[in-house]
Amino acid sequence: MGVPSLSEWTEGRKKSFIVSTLRAGNRRWPPRYNTLNAAKTEKRINVSTGRLAQHYKCAECLKEFPAKVVQVNHKEPVVPLTGFTTWDDYINRMFCDDSKLEVLCIPCHKKLTLVENNIRKEFKTTQEKGTYQSWLDMKSRCLNPSSGRYYTHGGRGISVCPEWADSYDSFKESLGLKPDGFTLERIDNDGNYEPSNCKWASPKEQAQNRRSNINITHDGTTMNIQQWADSLGISHSSMKKRLLTMSVEEACTREKVDSHIENELKQIIMTEYALGELSQTQLAKKHGVSQAVISKWFSKEKKEKNARKPKS
Ligand SMILES: [Zn+2]
Repeated sequence: MGVPSLSEWTEGRKKSFIVSTLRAGNRRWPPRYNTLNAAKTEKRINVSTGRLAQHYKCAECLKEFPAKVVQVNHKEPVVPLTGFTTWDDYINRMFCDDSKLEVLCIPCHKKLTLVENNIRKEFKTTQEKGTYQSWLDMKSRCLNPSSGRYYTHGGRGISVCPEWADSYDSFKESLGLKPDGFTLERIDNDGNYEPSNCKWASPKEQAQNRRSNINITHDGTTMNIQQWADSLGISHSSMKKRLLTMSVEEACTREKVDSHIENELKQIIMTEYALGELSQTQLAKKHGVSQAVISKWFSKEKKEKNARKPKS
């Protein structure tokens, strides 16, 4: 077999190589001997060999066993129950002092390991689910025009990089598993979903970002959303919607449109589109309506049409 070539050093292989090397080193770690010595009881006949043998006390069941049937256990598991963090943490936990080690008999050690592994598995499943859901949601708001949040993302040109769009594994590899309570966030709010522009944001970071999003500057004037809305004679929520669907320039300067005029415009555009001569983009240009608004109209129309279809 020989030494694997560099290209064969996958993440998994690297990890198991480091783990087995550290474990081998840990077998000669002095605190392990101290712990074992402290658990010594007396020399007694080993029932399975009939010979005199040193016995050790299991810290869990408190029974005594010969050396072959006991193990030194880390009271704080080397891999935390919430999963692997960093190699530094791993090494610190593995090469700990006597106070964090204990002697267990093999059956007690096995039982404990099983319980710990189940907790780890459970935790990983929860995080895995959250990470996968974030990936689905991201794709939905950027790539699916019938998504309720499409107009704030895909509709205003925010896209998902091809590696992430095609592969959940690639997404997970870039960002790691989603910690509880964190959300997927773009560092530049106008940038795309791609490794260099995304991270898991803590609840604190999310709150900070919401606060810092309030002020909008256009043409040398800085005001908050409410002030802009007042100056244009529209509601706070309409202004917020504008900022999500239009450029800042358009959002801060566009005249208020009465809803019946907007409806009329919508009907004209829908009718023209049905004639098949102009694309949605061309119609947006012709009537001075943003592309995002038009695509929202069309996806809403499509949804309503589907809802009217009789179920077979
Ligand atoms: Zn035991």
